[in-house]
Amino acid sequence: KDEVNIISGALELHRKKVGDVMTKLEDVYMLSYDTVLDFETVSEIMKSGYSRIPVYEGNRQNIVTMLYIKDLALVDPDDNTLLKTLCQFYQNPCYFVFEDTTLDVLFKQFKEGIKGHMAFVHRVNNEGEGDPFYETVGIITLEDVIEELIQAEIMDE
Ligand code: ADP
Repeated sequence: KDEVNIISGALELHRKKVGDVMTKLEDVYMLSYDTVLDFETVSEIMKSGYSRIPVYEGNRQNIVTMLYIKDLALVDPDDNTLLKTLCQFYQNPCYFVFEDTTLDVLFKQFKEGIKGHMAFVHRVNNEGEGDPFYETVGIITLEDVIEELIQAEIMDE
């Protein structure tokens, strides 16, 4: 039965789109570039339970980098380090995919080396008067794709 599920999941990947299975931007746990990494903030980040956290500058649409929880290993909370300083040291890259990318294509990109197995999802917004612009709408991880492949939730808590 599991095998049948995985095979049918694999056959459906080219039909499903990133936008259908991503985590929406409003549900994403993010941090601002100007966050001070004091004891309280570091414990809150740890409590969130996520291993990767998008970092934005100004507004949540403007994602500039990604924080890996392991990057916090050398931070002394007494130093009140700025998140910006830490991010400038690590310079973790971000990857973007369009919301209408199909999951088979994304799966291939993850295998070929999207570092950290997380991508930001964007769309072209051409509503309104002004020029079209890229709008960030969510995040997607390898785990989201694998859940579609096996057609079941992965419990990791
Ligand atoms: P983690 O290693 O942090 O548990 P996973 O890649 O296992 O992350 O993803 C588990 C689920 O959590 C996925 O649905 C993913 O989209 C979502 N997710 C990952 N990081 C975040 C975050 N910072 N905020 C909100 N949701 C997230």
